[in-house]
Amino acid sequence: MHKFGSCDGCQLAFLNAGEALLALAGRVDIVHFAEAGPYAPEARVDVAFVEGSIGTPEEVERIRQVREHARVLVAMGACATSGGVQALRNLAQASDWVARTYPDPGAVHVLAESRPVSAYVAVDLELAGCPVTTRAVMEAVASFLRGAPPAAAREKLCLECKRAGHPCVLVTRGAPCMGPVTAAGCGALCPGLGRACYGCFGPAELSEPDALAARLAALGLDPAAVRRRLLSIHAGAPAFARAAARLGNGHRGGDNG
Ligand code: SF4
Ligand code: SF4
Repeated sequence: MHKFGSCDGCQLAFLNAGEALLALAGRVDIVHFAEAGPYAPEARVDVAFVEGSIGTPEEVERIRQVREHARVLVAMGACATSGGVQALRNLAQASDWVARTYPDPGAVHVLAESRPVSAYVAVDLELAGCPVTTRAVMEAVASFLRGAPPAAAREKLCLECKRAGHPCVLVTRGAPCMGPVTAAGCGALCPGLGRACYGCFGPAELSEPDALAARLAALGLDPAAVRRRLLSIHAGAPAFARAAARLGNGHRGGDNG
């Protein structure tokens, strides 16, 4: 388990498996998981789970070594799969922010952009979420143990929401729900509590963010508010970034991720 630029939430999702994690003892050797104890970052492994985005020159070198030392690499969570909240700096001049924030900017070595793991090395599986769910991590582990490739479906949250029988907050209350463009996997947690999804699982496959942006505008959101919904967690995801750029914020809608 390797950590890069992140909040540790995805590692906690793994630890939250609790007894299920203990049950893996004897079947799985956890050789590197600094947050839980074992420390061997250079070990050669069958499966490396990676949390976090790549945002410094040191992290570029380190992720290349992780890739070299792992048969399978799993990127987990918003940071590792699209650059995370910290990809908001991709919309600005990171060096200006560093200069304004730190008394000795020369001591801070960061790249201009926060990028997903796949921008630097081959990734075998991406797990969505901010954070990922414990279930998704454990299902991936179970698949590896069975020798079967884990499923990587990214259907839309609306499908999960409808299967759960939740009333649609967008249709019934005009709430600015991101469900039509967001990947399923959380169990439609927020609509289940009567709240609009804010997109923490990132873009679903075949999503149409432009169409949702038009719907949100019809609900009364101004372009800046729609952009904030698209960019808050997944500013580095091309599908959301390009839709936000088309709303006129000047962001280049980059090809990262
Ligand atoms: S509440 Fe949101 S996720 Fe659920 S069906 Fe409506 S738009 Fe989709
Ligand atoms: S409903 Fe949306 S914002 Fe809420 S947990 Fe699920 S993906 Fe994240």
